[in-house]
Amino acid sequence: MISVDDALDQIFTRIPTPLPETIPLARAHRRVLTKPLVARHTQPPFDASAMDGYAVRTADVVPGQPLFLAGTSQAGARFTGMMQRGECVRIFTGAPLPIGADAVIMQEQATARGNQVSFDQVPRLGQSIRRKGFDFVADKELIPAGVPLTPAMLNLVASANYGELTVAKRPKLAILATGDELVAPGSEIGPDQIVASNSYGLIPLLAPYSEKIIDLGIVPDDKKQLENAILGAFDYGVEVLITSGGASVGERDYVQDVLRDLGVNLDFWKVLMRPGKPLMFGTRGKTLVFGLPGNPISAFVTATVLVRPALRLMTGHTDPFWPSLAVPLASDLPANAERRHYVRAKLNRSEIGFLEALPIAETDSNHSTSLAEADALIIQPENSPLLPAGEMVEVIPLNMLS
Ligand code: AMP
Ligand code: MG
Repeated sequence: MISVDDALDQIFTRIPTPLPETIPLARAHRRVLTKPLVARHTQPPFDASAMDGYAVRTADVVPGQPLFLAGTSQAGARFTGMMQRGECVRIFTGAPLPIGADAVIMQEQATARGNQVSFDQVPRLGQSIRRKGFDFVADKELIPAGVPLTPAMLNLVASANYGELTVAKRPKLAILATGDELVAPGSEIGPDQIVASNSYGLIPLLAPYSEKIIDLGIVPDDKKQLENAILGAFDYGVEVLITSGGASVGERDYVQDVLRDLGVNLDFWKVLMRPGKPLMFGTRGKTLVFGLPGNPISAFVTATVLVRPALRLMTGHTDPFWPSLAVPLASDLPANAERRHYVRAKLNRSEIGFLEALPIAETDSNHSTSLAEADALIIQPENSPLLPAGEMVEVIPLNMLS
């Protein structure tokens, strides 16, 4: 058995370098740039008004004394003349500042009578002007490589005039569930049958890091059928294969044998974590193979802790780990043995409004209700003593997305 950290290190050494591909901007949410994105132009490209109002020369403004209205500067259609002494120009938000103006007075502080406009106050030099390049200048690095693109970043990318982006390619995945007792959701359930649920959590969990996930469905505990299904995935050219079930040492747990028979080099098959001890990892050429445990919580947690980091690296993320939080415990967390424990927890607000982690007492690896209730997994280190309420712990948020 190896520690979680050693397991991750071994997995990480097997990750192929991501290849670039060019995609439309509209499909780039959560994708990762392979090179930093550099501004192609200066933004704003000209000094612009930040208000609807009047462009003035500050030296000309005397409260109550009207200026002559010389014209209009609109967004998309500037005032082409030169603003003379004693003049002002009607201006709208985003419109270029006329030559000769050095401030904008908002319309609420102006009184217009015909072409005579007077103002309540003398403006500050540069008031309500957005200077050319105040957002960014040409050649500035706007977004680094290696981070997932957020909606706000995509806004910036668009404003920097990119219609396409070069991002890391994502792998093709195949996923299968194995077990004689398993039936698909929505079926008639026979007397000794169990509904196969694992793939339905794993697929959306891993989808952001996949080009495509092929669901191979349920395969019985039968060597030949398992071989056929897995070989089919390899032949199709998947870059990651994920199985759940049949991974421990029971008589009908064939996954390990089948993987070896098909030429998979297994790096390890047990990890010191809870839930999730039986977990196989290996490679066949460039294909990564994860044999996850069958218990639903074990499958989900091992995928979160070991598969997702691998996929993040494969897809160009510099940081393999989903951002974690440090929060105080809302109640005591019992002591732990030598396996690192990923404890289901609610993230609640304390009386003073801060997040805190309330451990869920249920720790069985087949109890799906408690995982569905959980907002986070507390990472309880190996051989931890009882951690008292108030102690800071690291948690992996489960449902925070942007
Ligand atoms: P196994 O790893 O095959 O020994 O399975 C461990 C437990 O997980 C057994 O109770 C199985 O019925 C259950 N199990 C295995 N695969 C799935 C699945 N895809 N969905 C839900 N439960 C499963
Ligand atoms: Mg089984």
